[in-house]
Amino acid sequence: MAKETTTRRPAYDAVIVGARCSGAATAMLLSRLGLRVLAVDRGRYGTDTLSTHALMRGGVLQLRRWGVLDRIQAAGTPAVRTTTFHYGDEALAIAIKPRDGVDALYAPRRTVLDAALVDAARDAGAEVEYGVRLAGLLRSSAGRVSGIVLEGPDGNARPIEAGLVVGADGLRSTVARLAGAATYRVGRHAGGVVYGYWSGLDVDGFHWYFRPGVSAGALPTNGGEACVFVAVPEQRFRDEIRFDVASGFHRVLAESAPEFARTLGSGRQSGNFRGFAGEAGFFRQSYGPGWALVGDAGYFRDPITAHGITDALRDAELLARAVARGTDEALAGYQAGRDALALGLFEASDDIASFAWDLPAVQRTHRAMSDEMNREVAALAALDDLGPAASPARGADGYRAASAWRSQARARSQSRWAVRSDTPSASAVSCSE
Ligand SMILES: Cc1cc2nc3c(=O)[nH]c(=O)nc-3n(C[C@H](O)[C@H](O)[C@H](O)COP(=O)(O)OP(=O)(O)OC[C@H]3O[C@@H](n4cnc5c(N)ncnc54)[C@H](O)[C@@H]3O)c2cc1C
Repeated sequence: MAKETTTRRPAYDAVIVGARCSGAATAMLLSRLGLRVLAVDRGRYGTDTLSTHALMRGGVLQLRRWGVLDRIQAAGTPAVRTTTFHYGDEALAIAIKPRDGVDALYAPRRTVLDAALVDAARDAGAEVEYGVRLAGLLRSSAGRVSGIVLEGPDGNARPIEAGLVVGADGLRSTVARLAGAATYRVGRHAGGVVYGYWSGLDVDGFHWYFRPGVSAGALPTNGGEACVFVAVPEQRFRDEIRFDVASGFHRVLAESAPEFARTLGSGRQSGNFRGFAGEAGFFRQSYGPGWALVGDAGYFRDPITAHGITDALRDAELLARAVARGTDEALAGYQAGRDALALGLFEASDDIASFAWDLPAVQRTHRAMSDEMNREVAALAALDDLGPAASPARGADGYRAASAWRSQARARSQSRWAVRSDTPSASAVSCSE
């Protein structure tokens, strides 16, 4: 008997695994395009994660363009108008010039940023479900990814069909592993990080401290607190710091920023120290039949250059545009476009994470990075509007315009992202963890 080929409507146009900065932003953008979107996360809404949180100009530009920056500002996130590089005893303060609609940088706590993006995604129509874990991928008999198997807190698994599965599930992405995403470039170096929060410190703007073999930083954030971090080569973290991160933190801060370290006693620490042992950067194949990766799942660079969230927001935008075009070629273009913007930043992060520089060399790398970031901002600023944001503030006319735009975009993308299966039932082929 001839095999019957069917094309039918999946439950969702896109299921996104991971609902933090990359996943929530992708969910919001795809929902604004009119797609039916489900974002899932094994964590909880509004919780913290292992990350400091300085945003660069490209990230702020995206948040403003999406109408999410207002929410960050309304949460009392301080505006950062200078960023100061301390090379040994020399301080180089740089004012944030108003440009591309950005007149300040921000370092919102992840409890604020990720929740604001999830709220915006829900406002745009996305469903978001917490406390559930990706347990497997569904595939058609032709091998195309056609949905996920989701495990609830009760241990019960349920299949969910989707035209596209997006892995926004972080650097140890299960979607990447189950989809068989190959890593095609890896970094050579990794730095260990320890950070904590203090109130009562006078931290005006971003401060980045560099001395041979060590670095540190201070970022003003929500609730009148400052995030203070230190970074060292991975080996030093493993040999000397991981067993006692508190003493390690104070020792490295005194080495990298002795003057600032002396002021720490005037503040009060809230919460515990958090340590990150380091992880070499990588680029992973970030698309395939029925699947894509965004954020750290697809591309990770050492956090020493504080650019991962900005990367995640940029790549959510690039991915959503590719999905709107609705072809596998467009997804290939997404990866190529990401890599063209990310490679220079990746190399700079890897260089700095080597800690094998002297002060003139790290300054040169920072200048090269600044050129790369300007290129990134120019590329983002040149993008046209992805579609009207469906925000109540737009009023009835805004809604009508949004709805007309969405139906066109939806028609474009749905023709491609409808579930295709050679047999009527998709089959779960792989289980995770
Ligand atoms: C120490 C440190 C400091 C950093 N500092 C900065 C900084 O100052 N500025 C900056 O821009 N970037 C910084 N970064 C990088 C930044 O944190 C990441 O680039 C960013 O978090 C990536 O976001 P994401 O949404 O892709 O992934 P994540 O934030 O990792 O989110 C992934 C989500 O997926 C969920 N998930 C994972 N697996 C599953 C599963 N199987 N089922 C369901 N859900 C799942 C997780 O619960 C999580 O919520 C830092 C990183 C580290 C480690």
